[in-house]
Amino acid sequence: MLVCGASFAGLAVAAELAGAGASVLVVDRYEIGERQTSACGIPTQWLRAMDLGTSERQRFDELVVHTPWRTARWPLPWSFSTFDYRELCALLWSRAGEAEFETATVTGRRGDTVITDRGELTAPLIVDALGWRRVLSNAPPIQPPNASASTSWSFTRPGGPPAGPCPGRSRPSTTASSAPCCGNAPARPSSRPPP
Ligand SMILES: Cc1cc2nc3c(=O)[nH]c(=O)nc-3n(C[C@H](O)[C@H](O)[C@H](O)COP(=O)(O)OP(=O)(O)OC[C@H]3O[C@@H](n4cnc5c(N)ncnc54)[C@H](O)[C@@H]3O)c2cc1C
Repeated sequence: MLVCGASFAGLAVAAELAGAGASVLVVDRYEIGERQTSACGIPTQWLRAMDLGTSERQRFDELVVHTPWRTARWPLPWSFSTFDYRELCALLWSRAGEAEFETATVTGRRGDTVITDRGELTAPLIVDALGWRRVLSNAPPIQPPNASASTSWSFTRPGGPPAGPCPGRSRPSTTASSAPCCGNAPARPSSRPPP
């Protein structure tokens, strides 16, 4: 099996495949954990559920918003943690057993053959874990904000205290529901609880 991309998705899939007895090769343009792809904030419970707690660095029980006018604090329904990217990747990779890793830049796909800067790789199962640019798709590359799978943080204040104006905005955002604050992307209300 060929897993393209050695970040969260690729390493998690590699561990599952290797655990099922598959012969797995993982490729990435960088060494595992070398280039952080995320700000690395996650609900604490998710880290615990995946037994990745040793990569935790800080834990936050409240949302703190600093503006030039004041600081507002809201308690969170669950805590968030930051984690060390390299360490978390190493933990995931340690679960991939006999899986092998090679650095290679993927440039495209022809059927079940993946083309890289180090040659072509053919496998009965190809996992595209290269992130949002969909390099392996035969569709045109996609960029935010048109990427349908792209997400954005949004700040909602249902019943919360009114906030001051956002820097750069011409009017204060004082309405309670799904008022985007200082985001560039269109904000959608999102309040998915952790499983
Ligand atoms: C600025 C920013 C901050 C974010 N912060 C958070 C956060 O705090 N919490 C959160 O939950 N989510 C966050 N996200 C979203 C999160 O980063 C993604 O959901 C997550 O990284 C997706 O994981 P993935 O494994 O699918 O892809 P990625 O993490 O993007 O991994 C893709 C892997 O593929 C490799 N790769 C890419 N192209 C090639 C190629 N052509 N050839 C070879 N290898 C290649 C890359 O090196 C990388 O290792 C953030 C996103 C951004 C952009």
